[in-house]
Amino acid sequence: MTEVVVAGAGIIGLTCAVRLLEAGHRVRVVSAHPPEQTVSSVAAAVWYTTHFAADDRLLAWSQRTLTELTQQASDGVPAVTMRATRMRLRGDTGTPWWALGVPEFRLEPAPDQQYTGEWRFTVPAVQTRSYLYWLIEVVESLGGTVGQQRLGSLAEAGHHAAVVVNATGLAARELVPDPAMQAIRGRILVLTNPGLTVSHRDEDDPEGGIYVHPRSRDVVVGGTFEPGQEDLSPDASVSESIRRRGTRLVPELAQARLLREVAGLRPGREGGPRLEEDAQPLPGGARLIHCYGHGGAGITLSWGCADEVAALVDGTGRVAPSSDA
Ligand SMILES: Cc1cc2nc3c(=O)[nH]c(=O)nc-3n(C[C@H](O)[C@H](O)[C@H](O)COP(=O)(O)OP(=O)(O)OC[C@H]3O[C@@H](n4cnc5c(N)ncnc54)[C@H](O)[C@@H]3O)c2cc1C
Repeated sequence: MTEVVVAGAGIIGLTCAVRLLEAGHRVRVVSAHPPEQTVSSVAAAVWYTTHFAADDRLLAWSQRTLTELTQQASDGVPAVTMRATRMRLRGDTGTPWWALGVPEFRLEPAPDQQYTGEWRFTVPAVQTRSYLYWLIEVVESLGGTVGQQRLGSLAEAGHHAAVVVNATGLAARELVPDPAMQAIRGRILVLTNPGLTVSHRDEDDPEGGIYVHPRSRDVVVGGTFEPGQEDLSPDASVSESIRRRGTRLVPELAQARLLREVAGLRPGREGGPRLEEDAQPLPGGARLIHCYGHGGAGITLSWGCADEVAALVDGTGRVAPSSDA
């Protein structure tokens, strides 16, 4: 049994904590913020490898997460459902790299002339705020602890641990420090649900990519993907544009009432997420394992990354993509 401190209680830190506890380690999670103030709680949050290009590691992590969340939806885990999706296409209709193993993935004819086709598939959708609280319950039921504490440095986390997992998201920019990290602002609208049960996407709307994700009591319509932008104050013109694009894609939204405007900073990283052991142990000798920089796909990659972090702690290697996930 190894003493592990996980720094960060967003989706990445908490899923890592669960896997480490399941592997028999003693785990303490520390977080500067309560769950509802993390970026994870802002996420839409649907399984999709947003803005990532084809990559074997991303494929392996996303496949593992797909399998885990699909199982959780079937087990009745609160806040996880399977969502049928219609994705409008304006260009290439060839099967994308991330589709391997995605349930019910198929190409359908274009619904009208502005499109070249439509992908249909079914993927997990997570209501992240409730899900984070569910994960905390799982951590505690497995004997771990989750406490609020702002670390001045990662070394501070290493004082009473043999291993520190750095799952601090965007804060890794300063804590590591990692100059490859960059905030990517996302703005979304939460509207009343006029009875939608299917998700819709149009990544190539000329006015900006758009998605519409129904949840149990509302609909998330988004959004923006703005590298380098960190101002989270509301912007009426952006909200109008999101509303206009959303209603163009799903006309039923014309009757929906605005509940709130939300913005968050995705933990972007040039070159993709960093998941590796630091060559340099912390002062005092604790091993340091980094798991941050998941950009717009932290929920999508979470359980796969957590599996790999647990494997790194135990020295058993990396997870690999399967050919038939
Ligand atoms: C609008 C929007 C929509 C999104 N939609 C999706 C989606 O549909 N699907 C998807 O997969 N992803 C989506 N994402 C991306 C997803 O939200 C992120 O990739 C994910 O939340 C990152 O998780 P994380 O745990 O790394 O970071 P965070 O959730 O930011 O957690 C970081 C943790 O580190 C802690 N921390 C930071 N500094 C310190 C410190 N000094 N000491 C102690 N603790 C510290 C924080 O308190 C927090 O607990 C979306 C993001 C946005 C903004």
